[in-house]
Amino acid sequence: GSAVQGATGYLTIDLSALGRNYERLSSMLAPGRAGAVVKADGYGIGAECIATALYDKGCRHFFVAQFVEAVRLRPTLARDAQIFMLNGLQPGNEGPCAGSGIIPVLNSLQQWEQWSAAARHLKRTLPAVLQFDTGMSRLGFPLEERQALAEALGDDSHVEILFIMSHLASADELDSEQNCEQLAEMSRIADEFAGFDISFANSSGVFLGETYHGVLARPGIALYGGAPTAGEPNPMEPVVSLDVAVVQTRIVPAGTKVGYGGAHVTQREARLLTIAAGYADGLPRSLSGRGAVYYKGTRLPIVGRVSMDSITVDASALSEGDLTLGSQVEVLGPHQTLEDLARDAGTIPYEILTGLGDRYHRQYR
Ligand code: PLP
Repeated sequence: GSAVQGATGYLTIDLSALGRNYERLSSMLAPGRAGAVVKADGYGIGAECIATALYDKGCRHFFVAQFVEAVRLRPTLARDAQIFMLNGLQPGNEGPCAGSGIIPVLNSLQQWEQWSAAARHLKRTLPAVLQFDTGMSRLGFPLEERQALAEALGDDSHVEILFIMSHLASADELDSEQNCEQLAEMSRIADEFAGFDISFANSSGVFLGETYHGVLARPGIALYGGAPTAGEPNPMEPVVSLDVAVVQTRIVPAGTKVGYGGAHVTQREARLLTIAAGYADGLPRSLSGRGAVYYKGTRLPIVGRVSMDSITVDASALSEGDLTLGSQVEVLGPHQTLEDLARDAGTIPYEILTGLGDRYHRQYR
């Protein structure tokens, strides 16, 4: 990245790649059926910029998890964009939600009653989405509340149901039985609540085929360049790259302890680089003694424990003239994908992205 005064790390977000990922997912769906999940600050890379770029590509359905996220995002988007709150309606939020046109995903009878009461109080029709639990045991109307819900729906004209939805637990595994089980449960629900449109697929769900699509897909990770399906080639374009500055270099003799706990001891003379990003910057501590960064395509292994603000890498493979003061190493980029880093850290790309923190200089291209 270009030098910015004081910055030691550069998080580059390629909004045109994001746009192409959106188009790619859209092309797999019927027209107008691609929404976008922008919760957790757009998977850590900036909900407002992401949502604006996707709006320009035609996206009109945006999903966040929480009320505060919806409130932050609402002024960024034109009124014809809808913002849905996946975690549901929390007590006390119905007034502000109704007031600012935020649409709750209702997950229980209690939430339904709250929203319905708010609508009656305002003498208005309020929009909502109903989420059903089809097998994840996380969010959504449980089986035993469905009968009462069906009755409540019949009695109430104040709440307008835009669509019903559910979330897949194992869509990233193409041949998981749970996909079929959840699909079967969803079609039972579709029969019980006939006439409503369905939103079902997340990123990987889009790749499971048309039966999973419903009228509105909710991709997240694939928009951001993450692989939708485990173990398959990644059809998405990378969106995020991360370059971090070298803040100190040293040559140490064999037998030198490195980092907390002296967990690494050099076997021979080594050139060590201290890199200005640590576990507070989304490089999980589980990368200690594992994984690597890259310098001009050369792999530099992480040695010793990851610190809060730095990691140490062994750069013995580089010659002295290779590095200059102010050099940057690649953490995410052409030589190391999100999947590579997540695998080395024993986690998933989602956790890497959402953990990147706010100490990098962010540049949107
Ligand atoms: N729908 C719901 C309800 C979710 O919780 C999420 C994210 O976890 C998504 C859609 C997007 O999933 P993905 O990022 O796998 O596309």
